[in-house]
Formats: sequence, C-alpha cells, structure tokens
Amino acid sequence: MSYAIDFMSEIRAKNPGEPEFHQAVQEVVESLVPVFDKSPHYRKAKILERICVPERTVSFRVPWIDDKGEIQINRGYRIEMNSAIGPYKGGLRFHPTVYLGLLKFLAFEQVFKNSLTTLPMGGGKGGSDFDPHGKSDMEVMKFCQSFMTELCRHIGQFTDVPAGDIGVGGREIGYMFGQYKRIRNEFVGVLTGKGIKWGGSLIRPEATGYGCVYFAQEMLATRGESFKGKACLVSGSGNVAQYTVEKLLQLGARPLTLSDSAGHIFDEAGIDAEKLAFVLDLKNNRRGRISEYAAKYKNAVYTPFDPSKGHNPLWDHKADCAFPSATQNEINLADAQNVLKNGVYVVSEGSNMPTVPEGAELFIQKKILYAPGKAANAGGVATSGLEMSQNSLRMNWSREEVDGHLHTIMKNIHRACVEAAAAYGMPGNYVAGANIAGFLKVADAMLDQGVV
Ligand code: NAP
Repeated sequence: MSYAIDFMSEIRAKNPGEPEFHQAVQEVVESLVPVFDKSPHYRKAKILERICVPERTVSFRVPWIDDKGEIQINRGYRIEMNSAIGPYKGGLRFHPTVYLGLLKFLAFEQVFKNSLTTLPMGGGKGGSDFDPHGKSDMEVMKFCQSFMTELCRHIGQFTDVPAGDIGVGGREIGYMFGQYKRIRNEFVGVLTGKGIKWGGSLIRPEATGYGCVYFAQEMLATRGESFKGKACLVSGSGNVAQYTVEKLLQLGARPLTLSDSAGHIFDEAGIDAEKLAFVLDLKNNRRGRISEYAAKYKNAVYTPFDPSKGHNPLWDHKADCAFPSATQNEINLADAQNVLKNGVYVVSEGSNMPTVPEGAELFIQKKILYAPGKAANAGGVATSGLEMSQNSLRMNWSREEVDGHLHTIMKNIHRACVEAAAAYGMPGNYVAGANIAGFLKVADAMLDQGVV
C-alpha cells in the first residue's frame, strides 16, 4: 500500500486542483497493488505512471454569436489519453462544470472501459463548458460548428473518434458531423452516435442503458435471480436513464424514479411504456423538466433537490436495484447508506463514477452486487465500436444483430470482471475485477510497443 500512497502524492502534486481525476486514479491504483505484487514488471516499466499522463491534450477557444447578436466565448477540450489498443475513443460533454480535470477523470476511466469491451479502442474524452440548456437550435448549431472548426484538426476515423455524453445527443452530433464533412470534404465515421440515415448504428442510442441492465442481469444470475418484479431506482432522465428504464420494463422490472438536476419524481405505480414515451418526448423534443411528469401523472410525486439537506431523497425509497444514470458523485455516503437501508442489493452504474469512494467501499463491504461504471456502462462505447465497424464495412446491421453483439459483450465484460477479481483473491469485487481486467490488456500492449 505504500506504493499506492506514494503514487497518489505524485498524482496530486502533478495534477493540482483536479479532485475527480485524483479520485478515479486512487481507485485504480488500489485495485492494482496485488497485480504489481504478482507481476512486478508492470511496475518496473512504469505502465500506470504512463497511463496517468495523457498522450495529448488539446485546449481551444470556441467563439460563437448568440441569437441576440452577442459574441459568446466557451472553452473546448479534447484529451487523447491512451492509444495502445486502438484510436482514441470517448464522448464529448457539454456542461458548465466541464474543465480539464473533469475530462481527465473521464478519459482515464475510458481507457479501462474501452479495454473491457474487447474491441480495439483507445481512450479519450472531450467537451466544453457550453450549456445547451435554454439555447435555441440555431445557437446550438452555431456553437457546434465553431467547436468542430477547431476540433477537426485533431480527430479522424483512424486517430480519434468522439461520441456523445452529457449535453451531447443526436442533435449535437449531427451539427458537428456536418461541419467536419464540410471542412474536410470527406464522409467518414469520425463521430459515433450519428443519425441512422447517415452512418449511425441501430441500438446506439439505447446501448448504454440496455448494457447497464444486461450487466445487472448477469450479476443477478450469479444468485439465480431475474428482474421479474424488482423495484428499481433510476436517476437522470437523459439518454442513459431513458433506455435503462426501457430495458427494465422489457425484463419485467418496476422502475420507480427519474430525475434531472432540479429534482426527482417517484411513481409508486411504476413508470410504464406510455409514461416513458412521455419522458422521451419531454426530454428529447420539448427539452422540458422532469417536474412536468408529476404535473401529467397525478399519482407521481415530484421532490425538488435541495443540496443543503446533505442527501438526495431519490435514493431514499424502498427498492431492490439502483441505476445511477445522471453524473459523477451523485451518490454520497449518506445516499449509499440510505440505499442499503432501503433494501437495495444491486447497484449498476450507468453514469461515470457516480458513487463517492466511501459509498463504493460500503457497497463492497456489504457484499451487494455492485458494478462500477467502467464495466456497467461500457455498452455505449462498445456499440460505438460496432458503429465504427459498420462504417468501415459500409454496411448496416439489423437491430437484432447489434443488440445480440451488445448483449454478448456485456456478458463477456461481466465474466472478465468476475474472473479477474477471483484470480487476485477478491471474489465478487467488480470494482477490482474491472480495473484489473481493463488494465492488463492495455498494459501488455504498451509493453509490446516500447517506450512511446
Ligand atoms: P444526458 O442525456 O445529457 O442526461 C444527463 C442527465 O443527468 C439529465 O437528466 C441531467 O439533468 C442529469 N444531470 C446532469 N448533470 C447533473 C448534475 N450535476 N446533477 C444532477 N443531475 C445531473 O447524458 P447521458 O448521456 O444520459 O449521460 C449520463 C451519464 O452517463 C454521464 O455520467 C455520462 O458520462 C454517462 N455515460 C453516458 C454514455 C452515453 O452513451 N451517453 C455512455 C457511458 C456513460 P439536467 O438536464 O437537469 O442537467
């Protein structure tokens, strides 16, 4: 452990003011101590030290003109973290909280996640502090065009292939793809999450949510259980949350909650297919707030989020399973305690690093079925990988074919996590399993490729 302590002091010293990055690295380094003890050559070759430094970081100005004719300036970033096993791959996030440290944590996680998918993809992440909320379509288009005008110099189908993340969905990918094509004069699969009529893949919008539920299904199967009748808490109401709910319904579970940054709804009768269709229209077309759900469905209760309370009431309902699908650190220690108190024994993370370290530690101690985001939400990037394959083949696969691949990939990730955790003496610890299995493939590729 003294290795982990020394490693982290160096990380904190070299990356000041980036708490999310420190948090993500800390979890990984702790998981890898037994690997380094058993195979000291990884440590000698300073593989983890190298993984923690981005291969390249791009930071740029994004000027654009709003509907009132005023000049606006945002910051744009792309972190090309690791390309040992394939071109950089990872989403773009548009959210006012975006800064370099946040994207470094996401890019770092992405390296391990992409490795777990079994597909040839390195890790990257990017985005901007631009907030699409409340902007007109025209403003979003102008921003996306300006963002891509600079980003297009650094990405490419064989170099770096971005996708969506918070604040970046089909609309934003469309505007960015259009601008890339215009400037570079080439129609290539440089982004994933594209529209189905112009190079996108069926099931890509559904993939992260579906994959997260498939992973939980595998965890339940280790105890001989299924989703039938299980009460489920879901946070967020964006891409990941929407399709998590859809898959839960298909598997006979009872999703009870959804949220946005302002608050959550609790629907004791369950969110059914018709109510979910309302949410999809509300969030993807009308771009409204989740409180409108309770205005429409009178039995549902809306509770605004009050940060001064120190916990999020969304996590304080009786349930069997929890699917955090909003953002990082959305489950603090009090929330984790509430989740356990209320009977939840399956947590499958759709969002990246949604549980604070003390909460994650508690889940592991209590031996619940707890899947970290880098394993449970890997279905999104895996299906992006399948979109890249289809673009290269100039073919489109059917829904069933893509969903079949996704399901198989999620089962394989689950198996890899279980096996790695058991091999290093931590059976049932999916956090350690994901970190170890994700690391080994990248580490071996880096050893093969020399000091680069
Ligand atoms: P999205 O469509 O933009 O939806 C995000 C949802 O989370 C919205 O309901 C949003 O509410 C809520 N949210 C965002 N920031 C929040 C905050 N600080 N506090 C409370 N709620 C917040 O994004 P998404 O694609 O579903 O992504 C959700 C999570 O999944 C992120 O952690 C992302 O990194 C992860 N993920 C996504 C994918 C993918 O394929 N999209 C893949 C892997 C992992 P507001 O509208 O009020 O902001």
